[in-house]
Amino acid sequence: MRALCLVVLLTLLAGCARGPRIDTQYSAAGQSSRVQYIVLHYTSTDLPRSLRLLTEGDVSSHYLIGDTPPTIYRLVDENRRAWHAGDSRWQGRTWLNGTTIGIELVNRGYAEGPDGRTWQAYPPEQIDALIELLEDIMRRHDLAPGSILGHSDVAPQRKVDPGPLFPWWRLAEAGLVPWPDAQAVARQQALFAASLPSVAWFQAQLALQGYEVPRHGELDEATRNVLAAFQMKYRPARHDGVADAETAALLLVLNSRT
Ligand SMILES: [Zn+2]
Repeated sequence: MRALCLVVLLTLLAGCARGPRIDTQYSAAGQSSRVQYIVLHYTSTDLPRSLRLLTEGDVSSHYLIGDTPPTIYRLVDENRRAWHAGDSRWQGRTWLNGTTIGIELVNRGYAEGPDGRTWQAYPPEQIDALIELLEDIMRRHDLAPGSILGHSDVAPQRKVDPGPLFPWWRLAEAGLVPWPDAQAVARQQALFAASLPSVAWFQAQLALQGYEVPRHGELDEATRNVLAAFQMKYRPARHDGVADAETAALLLVLNSRT
């Protein structure tokens, strides 16, 4: 009797199905994930407000990671587009929402005070959770080291998140982000201190990294913003957008790796 009920139920369900019949027994060898990059953000606010903003408004992300405890929330399925990157560019590609996974970290960002900006640190447990999530995403989408970007990398003219206190070095230690060899940087820095490359050289090196940067050879505000974004990642102690010898050395060593 139960078996009969099941057959009746399945027949009814099949009758309800809509759309063309599709034969899925073949699968093409030539295919890959649509995901090319992962973009990291901070939410600028606490968890309750972050959850509200990312679930009720026009901004969203695939994942949100709390601070304490570092709960990982999935808000958008990875197969769907989340609205996190906005007008964004990397390696000549534009409007990256369609080809990225967005991860928001609960962090207040910065506050303006009498001594300038003060930034909120990321708890180590939050970064542990992020690394675990990144490893999983990168494995499933077959992403190479170098595919993890900050919002400030893909929109350096208008965004500074995840900010200078985001520990990129910890992602590098986990093998998720390429990192310049310190000794090679020190050697190169000494050479550049004697003779600093031109602004056009800096712009070309930043473009090689993937940044959208002017190429006119002048140190304008747009170029300084890109330099600051790069420095926040690899030399966060000073991210003033100045084209100095250490920044030149970091760029050269990183670009000669690839
Ligand atoms: Zn952002």
